[in-house]
Amino acid sequence: MKIDSNQLPELMRLQQLLAEAAKLEKRIRQVESGEQAEAIRVSLLAQSAMASQLLSDHDQVERDVRRAEVDLELVEKRIAQDNQRLASSSDAKVITGIQHELETLAKRKGELEEAQLVLMEAADQSNLGQEAVQLHRKQLQTELTAATENAAAELSALTSELGSVNGDMVGIRKVLDDELLELFDKIRVRGTAIGRLKDSTCGACNMNLTSTAVGQLSALSQDELARCPECSAILVR
Ligand SMILES: [Zn+2]
Repeated sequence: MKIDSNQLPELMRLQQLLAEAAKLEKRIRQVESGEQAEAIRVSLLAQSAMASQLLSDHDQVERDVRRAEVDLELVEKRIAQDNQRLASSSDAKVITGIQHELETLAKRKGELEEAQLVLMEAADQSNLGQEAVQLHRKQLQTELTAATENAAAELSALTSELGSVNGDMVGIRKVLDDELLELFDKIRVRGTAIGRLKDSTCGACNMNLTSTAVGQLSALSQDELARCPECSAILVR
């Protein structure tokens, strides 16, 4: 096949642009899949689940605090009643009975107060835990917004770059010979379509060609198309 050897560098450039376009398309698909935002969404869901668990734990603690308050009030009321009975009683046996009950009540009151302190401490901790989760959620929301914005900006830049690469390729294809282009497109389906022959190495498949093959290639005139005997790529001599 006769060729204009000046077209070969353009064909090399076309191959380079095709590789660039493929890389850009791959990155566009990656950005479009929104994997970064998706990872943040997964974390957000986990934080939301944790927040509702903490809220339900907190509700339980608050119910326990209220129950302890009611119990304490009952005990205090009973103590007040016993003290009144004690003041108005003159029967030694009754007085001993009331005093005994007052001792038991005092012990019970102490226990309830201690339990109340523990519960209030738990309620404070639970509040702190909830605040921390809310803060983390807010941070994740900010990250999600930033990731979404960054992805949109990157996508716009990639799309415009791809447009320019595609435009360059259209321009190159216009100046290239149809038959040469057809051959190039046919070879590139299988692999690298064009490579530079450097010493005895094919730039497309990186194979070392035999001296016989190199000799045959050198014997070809400059306007004759040379192809690698190993990978059939178009060779630039
Ligand atoms: Zn080759």
